[in-house]
Amino acid sequence: MNFKFRQELHLHHHLGAKRIVVKVGSAAITGEQGRIDLTCLGRIVHDLAQLCLNGTEVVLVTSGAISAGRGFLGSAGKKADISYLQACSAVGQPLLMAAYQKEFEKHGLMTAQVLLTHDDLKNRTRNLNTRNTILKLMKTGIIPILNENDSVSFEEITVGDNDQLAAMVTELIEGHGLVLLTGPDGLYDQDPSLPGAKHLPSLEFHADLKEIKTITKSSVGRGGMATKLLAVRKLTALGIPVIIGTYRREHPVLAPLCESVGTFFHPHRLTDKNRRKAWISTIVKNNAFVLIDEGACKALRKNASLLPIGIRAIQGTFKRGDVVNIKYQAKIIAVGISEYDSKDILQLMGKKSTEIASLLGSCPSDVIVHRDNMFIKD
Ligand code: GLU
Repeated sequence: MNFKFRQELHLHHHLGAKRIVVKVGSAAITGEQGRIDLTCLGRIVHDLAQLCLNGTEVVLVTSGAISAGRGFLGSAGKKADISYLQACSAVGQPLLMAAYQKEFEKHGLMTAQVLLTHDDLKNRTRNLNTRNTILKLMKTGIIPILNENDSVSFEEITVGDNDQLAAMVTELIEGHGLVLLTGPDGLYDQDPSLPGAKHLPSLEFHADLKEIKTITKSSVGRGGMATKLLAVRKLTALGIPVIIGTYRREHPVLAPLCESVGTFFHPHRLTDKNRRKAWISTIVKNNAFVLIDEGACKALRKNASLLPIGIRAIQGTFKRGDVVNIKYQAKIIAVGISEYDSKDILQLMGKKSTEIASLLGSCPSDVIVHRDNMFIKD
């Protein structure tokens, strides 16, 4: 299997390493009986490992904790009972991770578990933490394996299904594409079990997804085609392509990324990463300013992050996660998400990043505003 990404993905290739999120449904991993299917899991891991070893950054979002744990609880509860499901996931999640780790180890790779709730993603401070953790793992060559933190999630904080979790995470880490693995190989114009059902290899962004008749949800996971299409709508509107493909093939991940299989959902062409950055400028805190020196101003214009050493002063008070104005002389040259509270920046300004840990007692980030979270004004 070669690693030349299909043309459609190249079109939306941003500079730098490609970053792909792959989401695997419970049915792929465990089937109805709840036993972890090592053959299928092994094939997925093989492909992810090849991608990683060839310089692509990958994040895996996997379901299957609840179904893998179910068999061990016997008749302790009903399918709809929340505490029963939470207990099942508490049993199943480590089994799932152990299976993934064992498979990745065969390729010399290490995995890391990241369990998230909706609260972690909607709260900007925690959202930044999550983002930094996942990026750090990827940069280190470790495979982040994500799932919802089912054993603590309850109604108000649940994401609900991993298709949405995968979409949120893809946006969060600025992924270049999301692959959703499921039973059918993408979309058909009608129920694929009906004779004459036509496979849809790709859909333009303007295609009305509501016209698609989705088959009923799977009996194993929480999702189905409808939740996948919801994730597709969210991401393609942000300029990120999505592929839905089947886990039932030799190369479940490489094939949809490199060949014309599955269904490719083209993203909105008018939006790109700048749209996200422009969005940052809409939520800026009007009374929060970071004043920088000439060197920092030049560096920012060359697409660098804002380091503590380039900061002269601050005005106003703000929290980590707030969007602040970055000012050189009398002009606001950029806006961006601050990685630190204003009171911490007072201590850090003019200092080197290597001094952060000794000055504050910890170093959650080497930069004050990361370039990915900064919108430079003309
Ligand atoms: N987080 C759940 C699990 O691991 C699955 C959620 C879903 O099916 O989307 O069992």
